[in-house]
Amino acid sequence: MKKIAILGSTGSIGTQTLDVVRNNGDIRVVGISAGHNVDKAEEQIREFHPEIAVIYDGQAAEDLRIRVRDTDTRVLSGMDGLLELAVMPDADILVTAIVGMIGIRPTLAAIEAGKDIALANKETLVTAGHLIIPLAREKGVRILPVDSEHSAIFQCLHGEDRRQVHKLLITASGGPFRGRKTAELSNIRPEDALKHPTWSMGRKITIDSATLVNKGLEVMEARWLFDVPLERIQVVVQPQSIIHSMVEFEDGAVMAQLGSPDMRLPIQYALYYPERRYFPGERLDFTKLRSIEIDEPDMETFRGLPLAIQAAKEGGSMPTVFNAANEEAVALFLDHKIGFLDIYRIIEGAMNRHRTIENPDLGQILSVEAETRRRISEEWNK
Ligand code: NDP
Repeated sequence: MKKIAILGSTGSIGTQTLDVVRNNGDIRVVGISAGHNVDKAEEQIREFHPEIAVIYDGQAAEDLRIRVRDTDTRVLSGMDGLLELAVMPDADILVTAIVGMIGIRPTLAAIEAGKDIALANKETLVTAGHLIIPLAREKGVRILPVDSEHSAIFQCLHGEDRRQVHKLLITASGGPFRGRKTAELSNIRPEDALKHPTWSMGRKITIDSATLVNKGLEVMEARWLFDVPLERIQVVVQPQSIIHSMVEFEDGAVMAQLGSPDMRLPIQYALYYPERRYFPGERLDFTKLRSIEIDEPDMETFRGLPLAIQAAKEGGSMPTVFNAANEEAVALFLDHKIGFLDIYRIIEGAMNRHRTIENPDLGQILSVEAETRRRISEEWNK
């Protein structure tokens, strides 16, 4: 029986991973983790009986420990807890469904311990891809993409010679404000930005989709996952989110993966790869599908994408600054402390201030992250 541990089991990807486990019945969940959500963690402990449950927040972990003292689950907390979960001897796969750069250390620890990674946590790869990918290669560990776009590309590449890839075409829905111009974005409230037209996701990634930062993170993620230079990665808008992404080969042939927008499909593919299992979700009905719309991204209005490309071209520690600034800005926006367009201003300001460190090690990445967050917080949290 396959055994998995989940970083971020209470979130959107985490709960959908558990749905896949529930539907299939032949995967054992040996570890779960959350930031604060004790109610959901307790529910999951009672249903899946993991050996370890980590709640990052110490006080919330204490609360959970009391609540589940009648079970055999050990409750841990903090980064030490996440690291212990990441290297559990019993787990074959670590599902990284945690949000943000906090996933870096546990992901590296899991790879070091020889665990395959089902990777949803894109911020980790964006900021530390140059450490993660070589380490995974060295340890013979598989990085199985969960993000629907990267899963699509991974599926299109199955059985193909990767040297014959001409370019990757990453699709974007365009988010809830597609078609609007900059002047129409200044009064956007978090409530408006949280309404995604096609996908149901966690709060941070939903805002990232509205700013197109998410697509920028995905371009950077694709570059690490598939070893394709930036100039050969193109973003195309496909508003219905039916084409999940495509690969163009040297001979001009384009392979695409299509499906209903349901994250449980790429999650299941990652967990059972290379096996394809029956999936009980909604199917595409081609008799009802009249057209598939394709458009170009509006890079002038939605500056998250060009800023990400600029950070990726600069490389080194710049993607960390881009990502950390965005994480801070999104939190401020969700807190109603800044406007929608300030997200771009904050990212751009942080990038302009930063002097890039080439090939940063883990310590340098984490200190660039902390410094970026500190400066933004001092400036905006008044
Ligand atoms: P959610 O916000 O829904 O869930 C995040 C998870 O991480 C929760 O379990 C949360 O716990 C936990 N968490 C948050 N902060 C901490 C912390 N400090 N310490 C420990 N755990 C923490 O996010 P999503 O599921 O939407 O996204 C997760 C990742 O997957 C992101 O990197 C996202 O970009 C990526 N992704 C998501 C997709 C989606 O459809 N949702 C699609 C593709 C990629 P708690 O519940 O207690 O807050």
